[in-house]
Amino acid sequence: MAPIEKLEQLYEGKAKKVYKTTDPDIVWIEYKDSATAFNGLKKEEIPNKGILNNRITALFFQYLEERAIPTHFVELLNDREMLVKALEILPVEVVVRNRAAGSLGKRIGQEEGTLLPKPILEFYYKDDGLGDPMINEYHIDAMGWATKEQMIQVKEIALQVNSLLIDLMEQVNIDLVDFKLEFGLHKGQVLLGDEISPDNCRFWDQETKERLDKDRFRHDLGGIEEAYQEILRRLESKLLT
Ligand code: UDP
Repeated sequence: MAPIEKLEQLYEGKAKKVYKTTDPDIVWIEYKDSATAFNGLKKEEIPNKGILNNRITALFFQYLEERAIPTHFVELLNDREMLVKALEILPVEVVVRNRAAGSLGKRIGQEEGTLLPKPILEFYYKDDGLGDPMINEYHIDAMGWATKEQMIQVKEIALQVNSLLIDLMEQVNIDLVDFKLEFGLHKGQVLLGDEISPDNCRFWDQETKERLDKDRFRHDLGGIEEAYQEILRRLESKLLT
């Protein structure tokens, strides 16, 4: 088969660019160094963030694929780029929470870091103009954002990903506090899409409780690049042996 070539840009998001390729089923992703928070109000360039998130995401997706999770991941190309299956993204962001952090602590009256008795799934409508409002499965069904059958799969995959990632991160002394997933349809099949990186997960060092994720950017804690580098280092020490 002829090698896949990069064609014109299809889309530029906050953290990634997406290009068409010579294969209509595959898109080319380039990870940027831009960081945004608070619905785009806070914006900065973090040196090497794109490289770190590209590599971290590839490691997580390979780990998940090897454990039967259906993902869009195809191949890591180089420092900043990967190939993934073209998805029709469902406009629903899925947040999985294992500990109270951020807004959840306030909503349910639990202190930051409290272990939840079970994982909690939340859904948000993926719409920057509306600020990604929280929704439930009735909104999703009524508005046709995903079918009930698709949501059964989304929830099952999200919870399986959670168990697999808790297990992996435990082995490198990281608490998986919460994270956000996105799903899409490829030839009618529900696949896990987007990225899994410190940009959309909360990773706490189990001993020091140090935040090794985007909260360092959100709350001006400094050492962002170093924290992402540390996540990559620990994952490589476990997965590339
Ligand atoms: N998250 C994300 N993108 C979003 C919203 C949330 O990646 O647009 C991630 C975030 O990094 C965290 C989890 O989802 O790991 C929960 O985030 P949220 O902002 O809902 O948390 P809160 O601060 O409200 O607890």
